[in-house]
Amino acid sequence: MVTPGGGAAPGPTSPAGVAAAATAAPDLATLDHAVTTCRACPRLVAWREAVAADPPARYRGQTYWARPVPGFGDPRARVVVVGLAPAAHGANRTGRMFTGDRSGDFLFAGLHRAGLASQPTSTAADDGLTLHDVRVTAPVRCAPPANVPTPDERRTCGPWLARELALVAPRVAVVLGGFGWQALLTTLAEQGWTVPRPRPAFAHGAEVTLHHAAQARDLTLLGCYHVSQQNTFTGRLTPAMLDAVLHRAREVIP
Ligand code: SF4
Repeated sequence: MVTPGGGAAPGPTSPAGVAAAATAAPDLATLDHAVTTCRACPRLVAWREAVAADPPARYRGQTYWARPVPGFGDPRARVVVVGLAPAAHGANRTGRMFTGDRSGDFLFAGLHRAGLASQPTSTAADDGLTLHDVRVTAPVRCAPPANVPTPDERRTCGPWLARELALVAPRVAVVLGGFGWQALLTTLAEQGWTVPRPRPAFAHGAEVTLHHAAQARDLTLLGCYHVSQQNTFTGRLTPAMLDAVLHRAREVIP
């Protein structure tokens, strides 16, 4: 049975509401709960619930999460893995980032090889997976049509990620794909991080360190091709290539 919205308490319904709720969250648990109540982007609210109401045959009968997806993993992680947005039948179905689809299978297998995940698979929110020193998150928390959020939607969602990064205080962000790279740089620039001009271009293996003066800390971004089937099935991104980026992340953290 599908339960769009899941009966959550009313959450933010405007960009200002998102900013206020994110800023007011005193800790990660409060923030993660607040994220799941958000309804600030009408197009994405409609989409996340519409796909849940009409799933493909292989997921028919399952209860979809159909809400915003909070970050997942170690609350004190020194490494964050940043995608772009939840997948309609992956995280939007299971309620956990990169969980329940082939992209997640590839990512978590790599994190397990790197000693950052307790198991190589990620099938459901209650599958027992735990992450060590890594947290998986995204600049946009609701599944967008065609996997593409609008600039306004990304901007509206930005405060959730900004507050998450302030609370977790990671040293490294492994950024999956060019869209995620651009979205993260834009969000970080809007949230007080110094981003070089011209902006650092995305590439697999790209590396740039940003500084936040008010928070007096640095964040190193490492580019990695996205773990999408389009990349992993064609060999554009191999397990060895993901391993190399994760190895570099381990080198950067003290
Ligand atoms: Fe809220 Fe972000 Fe989802 Fe928009 S994309 S409704 S801001 S959680």
